[in-house]
Parts: sequence; structure tokens; C-alpha cells
Amino acid sequence: MRRFHLLGLGVALALAACGGPIRAAGETAGPAPGPTSITTARISLPLSLYVVRDSDSDTGSSLSSGRDERGLRTIAEGIQEIWNDSGIVFEPVVVHTIEVPRDMISDLAEGRSASFLRAAGDRFEVPDPGAVNGFYVSFLGGVNGFTPQGSRVFFVTDDPSVHDERVSSHEIGHILGLHHEPDDASRLMFSGTNGTLLTPSEVTVARYDAEGILDGTG
Ligand SMILES: [Zn+2]
Repeated sequence: MRRFHLLGLGVALALAACGGPIRAAGETAGPAPGPTSITTARISLPLSLYVVRDSDSDTGSSLSSGRDERGLRTIAEGIQEIWNDSGIVFEPVVVHTIEVPRDMISDLAEGRSASFLRAAGDRFEVPDPGAVNGFYVSFLGGVNGFTPQGSRVFFVTDDPSVHDERVSSHEIGHILGLHHEPDDASRLMFSGTNGTLLTPSEVTVARYDAEGILDGTG
């Protein structure tokens, strides 16, 4: 069986929570901001999105996401629009529905991802993992989304307070090395708004990290 390597699990408990009160700790600067002229050579980064369903849902109650694969495809299109000017192209996009044991979904609903990340590919299958992996779940303890620090995984709740594609794009920003912008609500990395702007230096960092993921150094 192919193992699903998502993670720097040692730091999986340090979360960058978005749209909620929690801030990631110990954030450090990425590579120095680059030149203001941005190269727009395409970087193709595989993106896999998953509807997370409760495998123990036969009792009637369910912690399954209410989303479907078509909805995730629409979100993927929105992600690409937001990231388009960076030259990062999310392709191929694959979409799956996965069945996950309820105890792990319950942990996620309380904002804990460690058990889910440990079990991915083992206690439940994660088909076609991409370079970037987004899991869509029913509830996330009151935040719109989060990215376990050091992982290539993000989670998005069913009912975020901002647009679905914006939450997802913001979390991808964290995976690509970007940190929260505290002052300007028009920016993608401001937490909890529908801002979508990426600065030239953010694009430089994100492209650098995307290249690192692709060549195995990131
Ligand atoms: Zn965030």
C-alpha cells in the first residue's frame, strides 16, 4: 500500500488557525523578498481535494461533510482564479470522497488534526494525494480553515464565514510559506475576510516554496 506522506508531523499540533482567534506561533520569515518584477513562468502544482465523510454514519447521525465533488471542483476553479497572477497553476486537480473514522472527524471538529494526519493512508485511504491536499469537513471547532504547520494539508469547514475559494486559497498560502497579514483586509493572508490580493514579495515566496515542494527540497 502506498503510504500517504503529508507531513512534518512533529509540528502538526502547531496550527495556523484562520478566521478564529488562534495565531500560529513561532512564525519566521521566508526567503528574503525578491525583486518587484515577477516572473510568471508557470509552476504546475498538483492539487487534491477531498470530501470527508463519516465512515460510522449508519447510526443516523453523521459528521459527514455536506459538500460534494462537484462543489470541490468549483472551489478549485476559484482557487486558480485567485492565484492566477502568481503563475502557480494547480494541476492536475483531482477530487475524491473519502470515508474517515468518526473519532478522527470528532478530533478535527475540536480543532485537533494529529490523529487524522497520522492515520491518513493507514486507517483510511487517501487516493491520489497531490502536492497540496485539501480536506473539506463538517466542522472545525469554529474556525474557517487551518493548515497544520509544516504540512501540505489544509482543512476547510462546511460553513466558513468567508467564500469557500478564499478560505482554501488562504490555506494554500500558508502551505506555500506565507504568514498572516495583520493590517490590510484586502490581502489574501489577512485572516477572516474575503481579501484576495497577493503582494509581489508573497508571490516570490510562494513560488519559491512551490518549486521546493516539486523538487523535493521544500
Ligand atoms: Zn491563516
